[in-house]
Amino acid sequence: MRELSHYVGGHHVQGTSGRFSDVFDPCTGRVQARVPLASGTEVADAVATAAKAQPEWAAMNPQRRARVLLRFVDLVNRTMDDLARLLSSEHGKTLADSRGDIQRGLEVVEFSAAAPHLLKGEFSSEAGPGVDIHSLRQPLGVVAGITPFNFPAMIPLWKSGPALAAGNAFILKPSERDPSVPLRLAELYSEAGVPDGVFNVVNGDKEAVDALLVDPAVKAVGFVGSTPIAEYIYATAAAAGKRAQCFGGAKNHMVVMPDADLDQAADALIGSGYGSAGERCMAVSVAVPVGQETADQLVARLQERIKALKVGPSLDPGVDFGPVVTAAAKQRIEGYIEAGAEAGATLLADGRGLAVDGHADGFWLGPTLFDHVTPDMAIYRDEIFGPVLVVVRAADYDEALRLCSDNPFGNGVAIFTRDGDAARDFATRVDVGMVGINVPIPVPLAYYTFGGWKASGFGDLNQHGADAFRFYTKTKTVTTRWPSGIRHGASFVMPEGS
Ligand code: NAD
Repeated sequence: MRELSHYVGGHHVQGTSGRFSDVFDPCTGRVQARVPLASGTEVADAVATAAKAQPEWAAMNPQRRARVLLRFVDLVNRTMDDLARLLSSEHGKTLADSRGDIQRGLEVVEFSAAAPHLLKGEFSSEAGPGVDIHSLRQPLGVVAGITPFNFPAMIPLWKSGPALAAGNAFILKPSERDPSVPLRLAELYSEAGVPDGVFNVVNGDKEAVDALLVDPAVKAVGFVGSTPIAEYIYATAAAAGKRAQCFGGAKNHMVVMPDADLDQAADALIGSGYGSAGERCMAVSVAVPVGQETADQLVARLQERIKALKVGPSLDPGVDFGPVVTAAAKQRIEGYIEAGAEAGATLLADGRGLAVDGHADGFWLGPTLFDHVTPDMAIYRDEIFGPVLVVVRAADYDEALRLCSDNPFGNGVAIFTRDGDAARDFATRVDVGMVGINVPIPVPLAYYTFGGWKASGFGDLNQHGADAFRFYTKTKTVTTRWPSGIRHGASFVMPEGS
């Protein structure tokens, strides 16, 4: 049995806690490795190593740090195929999807190489007689990232790219379900020239996370995962005086207006609802056709396309999506399918009981479609995080808009229409953080920010884009009075701008 490690101080470090978690191959259902779960002491050692390494990295000028990051991007690109295979083998997503996972992460590292520009402060000359004011952006010190299983490359890179570019040292606590790619990324950061101790991986579960949350040397925590854990981490980190940005779960709607191209809308729903087995925080899980005729036509198109979908091993060519991540996830999703049918929704496609040749014990679930779903049903209320798409029929545009806005989650939303007025009104009024107009998964590119609202995001700054540099730096403001502007004698008056 392969035993994984932590990565601290530029080296792989064996776990000493004696606790482990199994890492599965979701296509076969077999355990392929075990990952150590760090104790509080192991976490404290990693944080101490990072704290020791950070000042020298921070003292390096930002352009040199940026060059190191660009070397890292190059190394990742060169090993893309191996990394993608490794990612698929633990997560279960298709090879093409794993490449996308890595690529979308790399784009943020590339963006972070603009650090010399992004870290520039402000300067005001002659703010008073002989007075200049300038501001500096300084790194926080040691920062931590706690990341989910569904993007084991992208999210660690979204967090670490800007944090490192800004001069921080980083502790990554990746998901215990698929820790191998994060460990490989650590090796590549070292190979690219990130000094030992500046990027570390501590594997673990709640015990490791809790140790990070109370360690006074950890100045900021970036989390991505499910909503209950996001809320817990936000509250605990804030109570310990840390900066925190915590992104949670989702229930993303796609409104289909009567004037939409229904073939395009159906294709978009199929790709975004079932891609990566629905295990994406930006997956569309609720279709909201407006008007009975739109609904009937859309549902017919979805049923037709579902019949043609191919579910199978991640590495097989032509597969649309692979298995879900664990047996527990499969069981949870099956429970929702049963609950939906019992609640009276119309089950038009049932993904349970799917058999894949030669892979009898894989965690398979086929595409599942429910029609006539109502907002009180658990399959509408909860994030299912599997290949389950529900259709909630809306009588008119206002009802559809209300449904999207009233949902407690607020990650992503889309509208399919040819009507510019409706699209503009929707984008302006909907109470959701990221909006797509004829775009089903509106994940903003690296130079914009990514972040959901309401139960999908806790904290006041988003991921990547300029916000990431605000999150990973503190601003210092320096006021200078040059001797020529100084009048003799003490002043007892409050200085003011005029
Ligand atoms: P999860 O919340 O179970 O785990 C996320 C991280 O938290 C992991 O590193 C895990 O080890 C740790 N963790 C788990 N339980 C903990 C506990 N009790 N205390 C402290 N730490 C704990 O999430 P997951 O199943 O790995 O990922 C799927 C979830 O992530 C979905 O809800 C999905 O919507 C969400 N997600 C959100 C975004 C976003 O940007 N909003 C992006 C990707 C995934």
